[in-house]
Amino acid sequence: MVEAAVKSAKAAFPIWSSKSPLERSQILNKLADLIERDLEAFAQAESKDQGKTITFARTVDIPRAVYNFRFFASSILHHTTECTEMATMGCVHYTSRAPVGVAGLISPWNLPLYLLTWKIAPAIACGNTVVAKPSEMTSVTAWMMCKLLEKAGVPHGVVNIVFGTGTKAGEALVCHPDVPLISFTGSTLTAQRITEKSAPHCKRLSLELGGKNPAIIFDDADLMQCIPTTLRSSFANQGEICLCTSRIFVQRGIYSEFLKRFVAEAKKWKVGNPSDPTVDMGALISKEHLEKVRSYVKKAQAEGARVLCGEGVDSLALPTGNQKGYFMLPTVIAKVKDESCCMQEEIFGPVTCVVAFDTEEEVIERANSVKYGLAATVWSSNVGRVHRVAQRLQAGLVWTNCWLVRDLNLPFGGMKASGIGREGAKDSYEFFTEVKTITIKH
Ligand code: NAD
Repeated sequence: MVEAAVKSAKAAFPIWSSKSPLERSQILNKLADLIERDLEAFAQAESKDQGKTITFARTVDIPRAVYNFRFFASSILHHTTECTEMATMGCVHYTSRAPVGVAGLISPWNLPLYLLTWKIAPAIACGNTVVAKPSEMTSVTAWMMCKLLEKAGVPHGVVNIVFGTGTKAGEALVCHPDVPLISFTGSTLTAQRITEKSAPHCKRLSLELGGKNPAIIFDDADLMQCIPTTLRSSFANQGEICLCTSRIFVQRGIYSEFLKRFVAEAKKWKVGNPSDPTVDMGALISKEHLEKVRSYVKKAQAEGARVLCGEGVDSLALPTGNQKGYFMLPTVIAKVKDESCCMQEEIFGPVTCVVAFDTEEEVIERANSVKYGLAATVWSSNVGRVHRVAQRLQAGLVWTNCWLVRDLNLPFGGMKASGIGREGAKDSYEFFTEVKTITIKH
């Protein structure tokens, strides 16, 4: 299957790569229009397949998939290359960029169409052809999109979607000699395997991986803004977003008040049937994942931490028809040590830890003391402090007094075990093209 897809992508490359950016842009915009036309059907499918709420799929996943195509349809028209002059030598140097070839794209299950299109859009906008593999757990919307490709005018062979497991289809793609670049979003463990497997071919890799994201809340933070946003950053999409907060550091002066208000609000979150538009949290992706997330709560309890709400503390009343689903309440843990696995490992579920801190210096060190470095949030009304702290945090993205506000023009990605490379208007353009420096002497 992967062999046939790569062959088809390779055959389509000469024609697609020779189209002008404007021609490719028009096709991307048409595809965006078609997905938008079918937004409700896509949202329903994403919610049923993944377990996320219909509201999240309607307002985040599918609109963003549409926007991914529109964004790169526009940005591809505005890149310029570099030029320098060496007058004494009678030379000008300039750079030219060309698509690389067949791009292998591999995406995870938490934001299925959103993340798949975040790779397909820049790859094809730059003139590459692609073989994309969505997660085997959530492939329905990718399959629905396949049916729109022809209508949008995407030539045969430009976008090939392979459905299969990571160890079979994913690895075949990673090892294929005719796929010179791999863009992967998923776990750090899988990224290590991909790095090893692709090494003999010296492939170009972009790796967007896990996180253990801190929120740092100083005692001058506006709690009216901070509490609802930190609830969202902890529990949105069942906590199954790589950017979710899972370590909340609160300055000691406001620790008790914050905790009281935060837990009271967390208890109000409605968990249940994902198709119910009034529900805040749907189901986790699988039984195994639910068990894994629950096991972290048990480990924290065994270590002496206090579970203040959610798992094991409150009872979850589910509607009939959903009782066998993989649901879990938003869970807040306090009195947990920084060395605990709950403070060190990515849980990727609706579990967040709240701890106290005293000084700026101390909290920066503690926030940085994990292997990950994806995102962080800082809450304070002191502008100087937010700048200082943001500069010193080891994270590819720092939000101050907000969360998940994204400008797709700017780099997205993590440091340390959270990834290699960045994605965004310029970064994706650079990743998906090969640069050449040409010197002209007159
Ligand atoms: P995963 O690593 O298990 O799987 C991701 C994708 O890789 C899937 O399509 C899977 O089939 C494939 N895969 C698995 N083994 C493979 C192999 N040996 N070779 C090639 N492909 C293989 O991750 P997941 O459980 O689907 O997703 C959750 C993880 O993704 C979390 O760690 C989360 O933080 C991370 N994530 C990161 C970002 C980001 O932008 N940094 C965004 C979303 C999710």
